[in-house]
Amino acid sequence: MDEPHADPRDELFEIATSVRALVEWYDSTGAWGLPLAPARDVEPAYPAAEPHAAPPPPNPRAAAPAADRRPVPSDSTFAQPAQFTPPPERAQVPQYVPPAPPAERPQRPAAARPEARTPEARIEQLRVLASEVASCTRCRLAERRTQTVFARGNPLSELCFVGEGPGVEEDLAGEPFVGPAGQLLDKMIAAMGYRPGEVYICNIVKCRPPENRKPQPDEMEACKGYLASQLELARPRYIVALGATAIQGLLGTTEGITKLRGKWKMYRGTPVMPTFHPAYLLRQPSAKREVWTDLQEVMARLGKKPPARG
Ligand code: SF4
Repeated sequence: MDEPHADPRDELFEIATSVRALVEWYDSTGAWGLPLAPARDVEPAYPAAEPHAAPPPPNPRAAAPAADRRPVPSDSTFAQPAQFTPPPERAQVPQYVPPAPPAERPQRPAAARPEARTPEARIEQLRVLASEVASCTRCRLAERRTQTVFARGNPLSELCFVGEGPGVEEDLAGEPFVGPAGQLLDKMIAAMGYRPGEVYICNIVKCRPPENRKPQPDEMEACKGYLASQLELARPRYIVALGATAIQGLLGTTEGITKLRGKWKMYRGTPVMPTFHPAYLLRQPSAKREVWTDLQEVMARLGKKPPARG
């Protein structure tokens, strides 16, 4: 026990010095707040922190000389920091799972269709295909069409003409090549020796592009499965591709019609003759001679002769 002080002011000074040393130690260890008495009858939630093994280092800000300081109390009241109780665990937020993208509508592979052996079965399957096309919304051309335009003529013909896509008249009539270009095409077909309706006529896309623009590549891509099925069921011996879009849609080429016309190509085993579109001939009548040369090539393969002029 310490010696009693003769002068109470000495004792007061000693107490003040001790309190100051304690506060400075707290300050140096980062402690804050008033110490709490430990709950001795309650198990701590976590193991108690190790008390500092070494006494706190001297604080340079301490005004009193070291000899005047009382030793820091070793009582656990001060050595044990206040227990921290963590907040209850947050409920697990379920992870966001993005919805699965809509399954792409598969292009019906031609081989998946039951084989149509008889002409009647082929015609029936073409009718089914046309009704499937009538409700198609695979591309943006569906938004502004009046109706789809599937084909006209004899689906069992040896010869098929493939054009670009429906125009205004075709969109209203529901048949391909019924406008001025169609009338010129009919004259060309008659010059080859065919009666009206004897050949098969269809297009690369089945819906009218707005403002009679050219179909865009993604629209042609969306529609090409229909044409593939259509030609597989029709089974023409020869195809005439009318214009750049027709031959590009059939062959997937980017070459222009001027370079391609008059040269035989192959589409899935069927010979194709590229030539100018009748609409081009309306603007450029001098090109009719070249088209007639191309059509004569086709006639020679088919063993056809132009009808005698009466
Ligand atoms: S153009 Fe062809 S793919 Fe596009 S909506 Fe018409 S039928 Fe369908």
